[in-house]
Amino acid sequence: MAQAKDLYELLDISRDATEDEIKKAFRQQARKFHPDNKETGNEEHFKEINQAYEILSDPQKRNIYDQYGLSGLKSAYGNAEAFNFGFGDLSEIFSQFFGETKVHRAAGPERGMDLRYELETDFLEAINGCTKEITVQSHEDCKVCKGSGARPGSKLKICRSCNGLGEVRRVQESFFGHVTQITTCPSCQGNGKIVEQECTECKGKGQELTKKTIDVKVPCGVDDGARLRWGGKGEAGRKGGPPGDLYVIIQVKEHEIFTRDGQNIIIEQKISFAQAALGGTIKVPSIEGEKPLHIPGGVQSGTVLKIPGLGVPKLNNPARRGDQLIQITVETPNKLSGEERKIFEQLAKIQEEKGGKKFGIF
Ligand SMILES: [Zn+2]
Ligand SMILES: [Zn+2]
Repeated sequence: MAQAKDLYELLDISRDATEDEIKKAFRQQARKFHPDNKETGNEEHFKEINQAYEILSDPQKRNIYDQYGLSGLKSAYGNAEAFNFGFGDLSEIFSQFFGETKVHRAAGPERGMDLRYELETDFLEAINGCTKEITVQSHEDCKVCKGSGARPGSKLKICRSCNGLGEVRRVQESFFGHVTQITTCPSCQGNGKIVEQECTECKGKGQELTKKTIDVKVPCGVDDGARLRWGGKGEAGRKGGPPGDLYVIIQVKEHEIFTRDGQNIIIEQKISFAQAALGGTIKVPSIEGEKPLHIPGGVQSGTVLKIPGLGVPKLNNPARRGDQLIQITVETPNKLSGEERKIFEQLAKIQEEKGGKKFGIF
């Protein structure tokens, strides 16, 4: 399947299309390219359109796709889950056409949903790494029924609507002729069994929306916008399915002194006229506290000096670090004491005698 194509282009919609617009565009395109359409049918293209719709019609998948593209979806869901259409069962596609019944695959274990959390850290916390406690809303197994949805002690019985199959079939008239739709049994949600008495705590759902607290270890060197993933820290799965993953998006606050440029840390340092002319050693702030910096005599405003190895540790390889860069600004004095004025006047005279530029201080 060609996956390089842009999903929005495939459906011929804009990136901010509404759910309705997506649905409408999909129906139009799918009718045009369905393999049964003798004039314009194109099976390959039809599959691509379905892939695009599968992703864009699911707000969570669409969100991931918008931000991280198809590769992001693959890492979030795995190949099979992100691109989940077996073409053995076209009824699923037709159900999307007519939007009447939501079709699920036969009820089996369901993976829990992924959780997403935006975590703000201070500049130095991101540089040095930190552990943060976060609280997220998450669907977890009900404590009373432990996920079964049944009142403790009550039994399960075979669903009479589907005779325990978990799915119901029906033939439907469609644009393309008769189509057999296999849909999840609405009585038992595909379980094939229903509980005699629902758990009163979760009203039979088996899960509850609760707050859970997770310690998140932010590795040193993490940058603004970084996306960290913790497998299995998402919502609980259903029917024995695995839990989802937790995604933490890092937002790094600005620092009043330091700015980051890749692995380097940049500061601006003002020095006096005399320091610039004479040179010397000054103290500058660094992420490890104050450090000495040698200023060469005659340094110009705009010069960038470097302290090697005092930059940002490389993510996953903290032994490797960038440098600290110091942008020098030479400050011209704007208020002179009488004594300073005399010295500058003397200096001007000397420089004039040397044939230098006239300062015009007379
Ligand atoms: Zn319960
Ligand atoms: Zn049933």
